[in-house]
Amino acid sequence: MSERASESSAQRRPHGHRRCDACGEAELEVFGDLGEIPVLCGVHWADRDEAAHSPVGQMTLAACPACGYVRNVAFDPAVMVYDTTMDTNLHHSPAFQAFSAELCKRLADRYDLRGKRVLDVGCGQGEFLRELCHVGGATGHGFDAMYAGPAGPDPSGAVLHSGYAPRGAALPEYDLFTTRHWFEHLDDPYEFLVDLRLRANGRVVHGYIEVPDAGYDLSTAGWEVIYPHVSYFDAYALAKIVERAGWTVEDSGTFFHGMFRYIEISANKAASGATAALLTDRDRTLAAVAGFAARHHDERERWEQRIAQLVADGANPVMWGAGSRGVQFLTLADRTRQLAAVVDVNPRKWGRYLPVTAHRVEAPERLSELRPKAVIITNPAYRTEIAAQLAALGVDAELLVA
Ligand SMILES: [Zn+2]
Repeated sequence: MSERASESSAQRRPHGHRRCDACGEAELEVFGDLGEIPVLCGVHWADRDEAAHSPVGQMTLAACPACGYVRNVAFDPAVMVYDTTMDTNLHHSPAFQAFSAELCKRLADRYDLRGKRVLDVGCGQGEFLRELCHVGGATGHGFDAMYAGPAGPDPSGAVLHSGYAPRGAALPEYDLFTTRHWFEHLDDPYEFLVDLRLRANGRVVHGYIEVPDAGYDLSTAGWEVIYPHVSYFDAYALAKIVERAGWTVEDSGTFFHGMFRYIEISANKAASGATAALLTDRDRTLAAVAGFAARHHDERERWEQRIAQLVADGANPVMWGAGSRGVQFLTLADRTRQLAAVVDVNPRKWGRYLPVTAHRVEAPERLSELRPKAVIITNPAYRTEIAAQLAALGVDAELLVA
């Protein structure tokens, strides 16, 4: 084993000492143990047995007392492999699409992208990069191991690559880099940022990073804590990691009911010094961290009992939404498959099985036969949408938000 490899595996020891990836000022302290959870939480199987025996990984959450950065210190990058069979694309949601369209216009104006070069790391199926190049009159390169489309260049000016973005000199030159819902998947987020800054070679460049907001994700029982998410950032921890990597914070904010957080940064420009204003975020995250273990334990127990009670009452409880959060809820609260059904609007999931718990996913129409009296959802953002769909199916059920 090389010196470097032994160093990094020592860093990953669940209860070993690991210095904060974000601020580098303190050691991470363990505060939550979710046990073994599905690694491939966005994948579904044709065979129930294969689903039941799909890989699991240990989730041990630790937080930095100085900046509020949170990480799974048991994360093993060797088991978390991305490929073109996976699809964690958020672009299926109309609300997300609307935000993306607005964001393209804003970034194009703010950074005067005409004739400039964009680098999109974790580009998914390329929807965002294509639109950004089109709207801004820019060209760009996108990288994603899950990208399953043709290689570019396409008419928008975007070249899409199926594979991880290279590091160092192999990375294309850029004026603006964007990375949406990928940064939190990285084993080495700090090195990633340093590498991007060095690639700028002293030129003025900008960056846009978007992640799930840690303050939101850690306020629940852990339904939002999934194996592919190695890091959990709020605005303060994000600011600390970008500054330590030599970047300057330009702006930060949330959208999508506070579930998502973005930060805009620059390199080789005068400093803006926005970090201090983000301290309240750190305090909110540290409060969520302090209450996490008890909340996790209580909520898991409460939902197990609630489901058992609903079954005993003949309410035929079901869950709506078989995304990664739904999978995590089932893993924590319905391992023994007491629910009458799990439904999802995505037809590609119908008749297939979810990882580890092996729940079978069915079409929402199934609910017209089952007539459940209780429908559990894990994402409050879809409450109105799902209520309308239930009404259309003639299902009169109580909507329970986990
Ligand atoms: Zn820290």
